[in-house]
Parts: sequence; structure tokens; C-alpha cells
Amino acid sequence: MQRLAEACEAIAATTKKLVKIGLVADYLRSRPSEEAATSAVFLSGRPFPVHEETTLQVGGSLLWRTVGELSGKTETELTDSYRRHGDLGAVAGEVLPPRISEHELSVIDAERNFREIAAARGSATKALLVRGLLERATPLEAKYLVKIMTGDLRIGLKESLVEEAIAKAYGGSVVQVQRANMLLGDIAETVRLAAAGKLSEAKMRLFHPLGFMLASPVDSAEEALSYFKNAAVEDKYDGIRAQVHCSGDEVRIFSRTRDDITQSFPELPGILAGLNRDAILDGEIVAWSYSEGGPSELGRALPFSSLQQRLGRKKVSREMMRQVPVAYVAFDVLYAGGELVMDRPLHERAGILNDLLRNVRKATSVRTMGAQGQLLFTGEADPVAVQMIRAPVVQAHSSDEIEQLFTAAQERGNEGLMIKDLDSRYTPGRRGKAWLKMKRELATLDVVVTAVEYGHGKRIGVLSDYTFAVWDERRLLNVGKAYSGLTDAEIAEMTQWFLQHTVEDQGFRLQVEPKIVLEVAFNNVMESDRHNGGYALRFPRIVRLRPDKPPEEADTIARVREIHERQGGRKN
Ligand code: AMP
Repeated sequence: MQRLAEACEAIAATTKKLVKIGLVADYLRSRPSEEAATSAVFLSGRPFPVHEETTLQVGGSLLWRTVGELSGKTETELTDSYRRHGDLGAVAGEVLPPRISEHELSVIDAERNFREIAAARGSATKALLVRGLLERATPLEAKYLVKIMTGDLRIGLKESLVEEAIAKAYGGSVVQVQRANMLLGDIAETVRLAAAGKLSEAKMRLFHPLGFMLASPVDSAEEALSYFKNAAVEDKYDGIRAQVHCSGDEVRIFSRTRDDITQSFPELPGILAGLNRDAILDGEIVAWSYSEGGPSELGRALPFSSLQQRLGRKKVSREMMRQVPVAYVAFDVLYAGGELVMDRPLHERAGILNDLLRNVRKATSVRTMGAQGQLLFTGEADPVAVQMIRAPVVQAHSSDEIEQLFTAAQERGNEGLMIKDLDSRYTPGRRGKAWLKMKRELATLDVVVTAVEYGHGKRIGVLSDYTFAVWDERRLLNVGKAYSGLTDAEIAEMTQWFLQHTVEDQGFRLQVEPKIVLEVAFNNVMESDRHNGGYALRFPRIVRLRPDKPPEEADTIARVREIHERQGGRKN
């Protein structure tokens, strides 16, 4: 582990991408392949490979306490160190004494320890295990172990650079490495294959979630058409993104954070199994009103706030399924009948998706159908309705057509439009200009909460004032502060979360782990020195929590600048 930590120090010490890649490649090559494999996961800033659902469930405050106890430092000394470094790992590296235990710690040992911590229940047991791990570490090792546990190395290394380093270390092209890693969702396995010269054998594994293709925002139909001419236009449904893997009767649903959310929607696997083929679909789960005859005659999608009641539940009662029925709106296909189709252009994938869904209709028609064609789970007086829908697609070539579709989408109660390049491939994890989103609000930003404060008046005992930030490369820069827009219940729940994930208590203000993503609306952007981002959002309001969005996918300072420039560069 010491060697890995030393390599991390060297990587952090340079800003040059190529030098970083070279250092990672040298390190990987110098280690036995199993150790290199695990190291690659750690170098990507994670304790476990992406496809695994395992999480440590170790918060900043547990780490803070453990580092405090082991170092014997006072709270003030720790806080001073944190102020200087702004990073709990660096604090551990500074304040911890030399290794306490006589046993050295290998990378493989560290991984085993992480698994034990993840499997342990209760924070007391976890704290003991974390303590045991740090006791075996040198201060430098502890620095990086803590960084891995917080999920951020902060050495300017993204997984994409590790991929480049793998290609450099073992031969093989970067494209081959990227593809293998995307298919496997496991950079350790990618290293094993690369080291054995077998990258081309990487196979997509059903039931291991793949990355999601992401969209870029546009503000007008003209802007959308400046990127491509052949546009497929769909409504933008306001639900949660869901990647569905099916093989026979087995169905699993994965969220955008790649968590298995099948249990939260027990009514969906039955209808999805009707595909009757091995397949991976991309789509949106939405709350659905089966009673309002929308334009599709099958009801209409309801706003996200309706679906919210269904989220985060491990067990869903039939009562809940009846109260908030859902539908799966499919809009893409990644894999069908043994073939990976992501590299086919969208117009071909659209045809494959249509064929797949036609099969479902045939298969489900033998079961009981509702009045409007939806599948009903019967055998009960008050049946649960559920359906799988192909998102209607219209081809558009002019901005007039797109504007009309936008208005129609809003009339249907949807968020706006998704405008997609018909000639584009499905590129997981990338936010390009092949998929564009045009939303109702002129602009909203997805931001990360970095600090919280107690409120005033009736909010006096709860943390309701949130300072939020956007990304500048790997740094978060604050751009505003919002005084809620959340319900009292949400604020109460968030207060609990923030108290458990505080990294620094400044009395009136708590610095918190940057994990919570909010969607904020605002009137405009001003240049301002009030926050370290150099901009401030005017009249920011929280539109909603975005538990479905990982913090890395929040917006960037470049986007804030773009909005500022478009509105005429207004000053404070
Ligand atoms: P946003 O979450 O604002 O970045 O917008 C992108 C999200 O819109 C995707 O991740 C999907 O969850 C959602 N979405 C809704 N309808 C569609 C659609 N027809 N095509 C693609 N994404 C959609």
C-alpha cells in the first residue's frame, strides 16, 4: 500500500496529464497483476468496482472521530489541519502517528478490510474496523485510505486517465481499454484482461449495469439544430432514469447511480419479462395516471413529485402501487437478442426497440388487459395497473416544428423535449451534443450542497439554508445559497443526513460531504465575489432534491458562465 500511496503523491504533484498517465502506467506495470487490478480501482477513487453495489457506508464524521482518537489531537488541532488542507485524507496523513501495528498493509489487505467494513452493521462495528485498518497503516497510507473511503482521491486522476494508463502499461489501444471497462463496469477486471493481452475477450455481462448516455442542455430549437439536422424528438418525462436488463423471466432495473432498484417497483418485472428476449433497455420510470385519457389514450405521465412517494422504499405495499401507479417509458436499446447494438446509429436502434416492444404486446395480450390496453395485475378487487410504453418519437427538421412539439410536450405535462441525433451512437457516460434536453425553466442548475446552516423563525432547529456549488474540473466552487423550497419532511430528513455527514462543524455553519445534489431555479446569474465561484445566482430556489443524480454529474462553472454571458453579462 505504501508504494501505491507514494505513486499517488507523485501523481498529485504534477498537473500534466501525460505525466500522470505515465506515473500510473509505471506503477501498474511494476506490480503483480492482481495487485495492479485492485490498485486501479483505488486509483479511480473507489473502494469497489463500479458494477458492485457494495458501499462502505462510512460517513465523514466517523472518519473524523477515528482520526481524532488515533492521533490524540484536540478538536481545534484537527480543525486547524482541516482548514489548511480542506481534505480529511490529508488531515489523517498529517496528524496520525507512525504505524502502530507491526504488520504491513498490502493493497489486497486494504481491499479485504474495505469489504469487512462494508459488510459490518452499525456504526460502532464499522468504527472499530476502520480503526483497525488505520492502525496498520503508515500516515501516508492512511492519507490515501481515507481519501478512498470518502470516494475522492483529489489527485487529478479520473477513471478515464486510469484507462489510458492501462493501455500504456500493457499495450492495446485506449479505445479497447475503454470499451472493455464500459462493458465490464470493472476496472480491476479490465486490468486483468489487459495484462493477459485478452482485452478483446471482454464481454458485456447482463445484470451488470452499463453507463448511461447523458444529454446537454439547450435553450432554443435553433441551438439544437445547430448541432445536427436529422433530429428525433421525444417528450422529456419527469421520472427516474432506469436501465432494464432482461433474460427470460429474470429482470433487474438499475438507476442512474447504477443501484439495483428492482425492489422499489415490484409491478414492473412482470411486464418487462414480456420482452421475452435477452435485452438491455434504457428508459424512464414515471408515475402514471391511468384515468386521465391523455393524447396517447393510455393516460399520461405525472410530475416527479408524484413519483417521489415511491422512491427509496425497500418494500412497496400493493396499496402504494395502486395509489401511485407507474409506467416504464422505453426510449433506447443497448443490447438485444445476443447483439450489443450501442454502436448502431439511433435510427437503427429505434427500429430494434420497436420490434422488441411489438413482441411484448403480443405476449401480454394473452393476459388480462385493461380497458385502455394496459396490463392489469388482477386477482384482486382493486387491481394494479402497469404498462411499458415506447416513448413516441417524431422526426423534426425545422425549429418551428421543434417549438410546436415543445409546447405540446408541456401541454401533456412533461418537462420539455429530448432532441436526439438520429445518426448518433449510444455513448455511455458521455455528455455530448448527440442528445440535447430542452426544459421548461429557462435555466436550472444541478448543484452540490457543500455547507448548511440552521434556519430562522420556524426553521430554527433544522438545517434549512444550503450553500451549493458547481464543478470547476475536480474542484467545487460555491455559487449560491438557497433557503429551501423543500417540504418540512424533506428538510427534517436532510437535517439528519447532514448531521451525520458533517466534515467540519463551524458552529453556525456545517461543512458537509459534497454528496447531495439539488436542482435549483433562479432568475439570473450575477458576477459576484460573495462566493468563491465568482458568480452568484439571483433568487435561487430549490426545485427538488436529485437523489438519482451522482454528485459528479452536477453542472459546471462553465455552464454558469455560459448562462451569464447569454443573458448579457449582467454585473452585480
Ligand atoms: P437531466 O436529468 O435534467 O440531466 O435530463 C436528462 C434525463 O432526462 C435523463 O437522464 C432521463 O432520466 C430523462 N429523460 C426523460 N425523457 C427522456 C427521453 N425521452 N430520452 C432520454 N432521457 C429522458
